[in-house]
Amino acid sequence: MDLAAVEIDSVVSIHYSLHLDGGELVDSSRGREPMNYLHGHGNIVLGLEEELTGRKVGEQFAVAVPAEKGYGDSNPDGVQKIPRTTFPAELELKPGVALRAQDGEGTPVMMRVLEVGDQDVTVDLNHPLAGHTLYFDIEVIGVRTASAEELAHGHAHNPGDPDH
Ligand code: ZN
Repeated sequence: MDLAAVEIDSVVSIHYSLHLDGGELVDSSRGREPMNYLHGHGNIVLGLEEELTGRKVGEQFAVAVPAEKGYGDSNPDGVQKIPRTTFPAELELKPGVALRAQDGEGTPVMMRVLEVGDQDVTVDLNHPLAGHTLYFDIEVIGVRTASAEELAHGHAHNPGDPDH
């Protein structure tokens, strides 16, 4: 069922653009299908979710989300030196490369290479957007009630999604 305004447990369809301080465009849904998400379940950054509560279909707005309500502050402990031998020999390591690894418990971890030395590789485990104010331009395209399945899963489903 279509709803007039964004409320907890509704599925919200938005177009968004995300810029950083310098005006650098990080991501945009424009030119693609709008993004659907389940409101009130932490599927998008907190600062944006708060701003969307109560918004009506057709509304457009801009919001600056501080890091603490975005991807958090950059943690200095996230920068670590790892022995070169930890990485597969065939892996090309150079600054700026993003790697997917696993921690001791098998949880996926993303890291970015900062520096490659003879013995050690310096990596940053922080989210790439940590420490940044996030500048969003938002347009609310649609709001509907969530299905029981979406509520049980804690996220929105889109036509053509694989079963899960
Ligand atoms: Zn699901």
